[in-house]
Amino acid sequence: MQTCSRCNAASPDNSLTCVNCQADLGLFSTTAMALKRFQENPRVRAIRISVANNACSHCYELMNTYPKDEVPRLPHQGCSHENGCRCFYEPVLEEAAIVGKVVE
Ligand SMILES: [Zn+2]
Ligand SMILES: [Zn+2]
Ligand SMILES: [Zn+2]
Repeated sequence: MQTCSRCNAASPDNSLTCVNCQADLGLFSTTAMALKRFQENPRVRAIRISVANNACSHCYELMNTYPKDEVPRLPHQGCSHENGCRCFYEPVLEEAAIVGKVVE
């Protein structure tokens, strides 16, 4: 599911616009807003995609740390989990080592 940052409505993973307010989810989903914030923050060196518990194998495969300008869009369009892709972005700060890590 994608959550609209404008009206909080949930839309399916494959929706391009919010089902409630028609906002462009490529710009205004909560994940897209978070990514933009991280990309604009000079202290953020890279962006990690973390997966939720019980994520599908497709999402697990794409769990990684990416350069700021090469971050794949979420939700993953190939996700096969019944609740859809629940992956999220995490900032990797200057001080932190760049390591892949599963979030409990
Ligand atoms: Zn909306
Ligand atoms: Zn998935
Ligand atoms: Zn995913």
